[in-house]
Amino acid sequence: MNIILAKPRGFCAGVTRAIETVEKAIAKFGAPVYVRHEIVHNKFVVESLRQKGAIFVDEVDQIPVGAITIFSAHGVSDQVEEDAVGRGLDVIDATCPLVSKVHREAKKYEEEGCEIILIGHRGHPEVEGTRGRVKKEVILVTDENDARTVEIKNPEKISYVTQTTLSVDDTKKIVEILEKRFPQMHQGLATKDICYATQNRQDAVRDLSKMVDILLVIGAKNSSNSNRLRDLGEECGLRSYLINGAADIDRSWFENVKNIGLTAGASAPEVLVQEVINKIKEISTSDVTVSDMNGITENTFFVLPRKVRK
Ligand code: SF4
Repeated sequence: MNIILAKPRGFCAGVTRAIETVEKAIAKFGAPVYVRHEIVHNKFVVESLRQKGAIFVDEVDQIPVGAITIFSAHGVSDQVEEDAVGRGLDVIDATCPLVSKVHREAKKYEEEGCEIILIGHRGHPEVEGTRGRVKKEVILVTDENDARTVEIKNPEKISYVTQTTLSVDDTKKIVEILEKRFPQMHQGLATKDICYATQNRQDAVRDLSKMVDILLVIGAKNSSNSNRLRDLGEECGLRSYLINGAADIDRSWFENVKNIGLTAGASAPEVLVQEVINKIKEISTSDVTVSDMNGITENTFFVLPRKVRK
């Protein structure tokens, strides 16, 4: 059996920065530090940070006054920021710079007097954060059906932003429908807000799917970009499984399978990839080879928030 590893896979620059922010904050200020929401959507990462001294909470009112408080990579609304300031919390913002860029874009459209459509998944923390960065109502479009039926008060002045971790193909289709219905909408590249890491991991899976019989995606059930990789595998005609790690593997998946594609979402650490490889080797009745597909090398890097730089 052959395991072919997607390239690129796993941690993106925003996730690396967010995790390092928590680690450096603990080292600099001492435990505990409080983190609003899972710092990134991965239980393994969250648990290992918890063991180092991070306390994860849902809302800022659960944090003691004055405590070191870190906002997750998904970003927060203006209201959350104001609540934290009002509570006297010492905030370190680990919002991914590419999410912050979408926040600025939405604010700019608001200043221009546009109605704003946000293409994204209802309830996802990034969507809640972006929605809460503008004062006026943001119109959420979650799929093609929404794009066909959404009502706009002033179609002459309308713009859109998207979640950073969407399916590239689905987003293009949604934007195409909106552009047809609202020709005055701000034109632009449909995938302008989808981050480099999401795009690169999806491109890699598309290429990988031509070489393998099934696809395993390591990632959490609530990780948007990981779910999109699994969806893409299925769209490419592969049986595709989203797994937290080695413990989720079912040996029956590999019957009559010669080539296994393995990738990891942007918040899944490489150690989980290695555990999955070891598990497959353990349960396989034949020799297992492991190789990397030909893919691009990413060199994106984000500087840490100022408070934890030194
Ligand atoms: S997936 Fe993209 S937007 Fe999200 S943290 Fe990584 S680089 Fe940033």
